[in-house]
Amino acid sequence: MANADTIKTDITIIGGGMGGLTAAIGLAVHGFEVAVIDRTSQDALTDEGYDGRSSALAYASCQLFEALGVWDYMAPYAQPMLEIRVSDGPSLLHLHFDSEQLGDGPLGHMVENRHTQKALFARMAELDNLHFLAPETVTTIERNSQFTHVTLQSGTQIRSGLILGIDGRASMVRRHAGISVTKIDYHQHGIVCSIEHELSHCGIAHERFLPSGPFAILPLTGNRSSLVWTEKSHLVDTIMGLGERAFNAEIMRRTGDFLGNIKAIGGRWAYPLSLQYADRYVADRMALLGDAAHGIHPISGQGLNLGLKDVAAMIEILVEARKVGLDIGSTNVLEGYAQWRTTDNASIYAITDLFNRLFSNDIAPIKLARDLGMAAVNEIPPLKKFFMAHARGTVGELPKLLKGERIS
Ligand SMILES: Cc1cc2nc3c(=O)[nH]c(=O)nc-3n(C[C@H](O)[C@H](O)[C@H](O)COP(=O)(O)OP(=O)(O)OC[C@H]3O[C@@H](n4cnc5c(N)ncnc54)[C@H](O)[C@@H]3O)c2cc1C
Repeated sequence: MANADTIKTDITIIGGGMGGLTAAIGLAVHGFEVAVIDRTSQDALTDEGYDGRSSALAYASCQLFEALGVWDYMAPYAQPMLEIRVSDGPSLLHLHFDSEQLGDGPLGHMVENRHTQKALFARMAELDNLHFLAPETVTTIERNSQFTHVTLQSGTQIRSGLILGIDGRASMVRRHAGISVTKIDYHQHGIVCSIEHELSHCGIAHERFLPSGPFAILPLTGNRSSLVWTEKSHLVDTIMGLGERAFNAEIMRRTGDFLGNIKAIGGRWAYPLSLQYADRYVADRMALLGDAAHGIHPISGQGLNLGLKDVAAMIEILVEARKVGLDIGSTNVLEGYAQWRTTDNASIYAITDLFNRLFSNDIAPIKLARDLGMAAVNEIPPLKKFFMAHARGTVGELPKLLKGERIS
């Protein structure tokens, strides 16, 4: 650091959510000096009321956390996902993914977002070359051919060689760079809450396709599960306003009785659902990662996993660039990131968009086609293994850290 108000780093990250902190830790572990700015304080980011979501972390994402020294802090809160059962309303045709068929460990783990965020902060505290600045407001961003300069409302200035915008769907970094987004509103919300139940979930995740959209029951540690209940937006205020008994009854109507008695615990949250993607991922001395680059429907629990792939790819590209003496903020280096991640991400947007359209309606011929499709996948082992590999996040050109390999 030059003085108390001017920080010189290799990289400035704007956004200290799960994507931003993972990137910061990964870059710091590989020897870069990093500053992370978030508009929300550390205490607020980990508060129980801040984010009620839990994430299905693909096996590959867990490998990344392991490689960066974060997993040990998360492990006590991580519930292995051993099976996924997919069904279409009351139809008897279904799809069943069982990790035993792969013989390579669980499909992934369910972890409450606040525990992941806490684990990231715990790991961050061990790294002297990582500076977390929050709560802070970015007032100006300057980028030129030599460096980047970020000014904060507190007066602190940060000079770096590269800015990473990992600041979520409404990214101010993206707006600053004049990058437009393509957006499709699904007119659906994801209602999220946790439930406590009488019987064990046995590590099985359930996804049910109901006329208003997918309804997911995802196992958490103990006799608890996380629900992601997709509902048409115009009904959401009514559902969110239900009294405790009526809300529990609506949940029970959708889950059935396989978990015994059920009751919602903690708060309720409702997230508007849309598909959006940035028309470019990079500009001079800056790049977008995570939801700032792409936000998708939670139908397949892949949003954060995709962002973590961006993060692992970016770490690998920057470490390689530094090794051969390249300027880490140069266009050539950043274009390498854009090319790597754009195609992989686009295929997932397309699949999740298609799945949501196929499964969020009750039109008889479509229902029949999807039921037969699910039954066919269930009976064709290579196809089933392909879908399981997708759930584990092990498909495509994977960055080394997601394969559990070190970058030297
Ligand atoms: C209902 C639901 C369920 C989901 N379930 C799953 C799942 O099971 N698995 C999965 O992989 N994904 C899931 N997702 C997607 C996942 O939650 C997101 O992809 C993930 O949170 C994105 O992380 P991020 O760090 O890129 O962005 P964010 O989590 O949005 O973090 C952005 C950070 O930037 C900060 N910030 C924003 N603007 C500024 C600014 N101007 N200045 C400074 N800081 C700023 C914010 O305070 C925040 O900390 C789900 C999404 C929804 C809606």
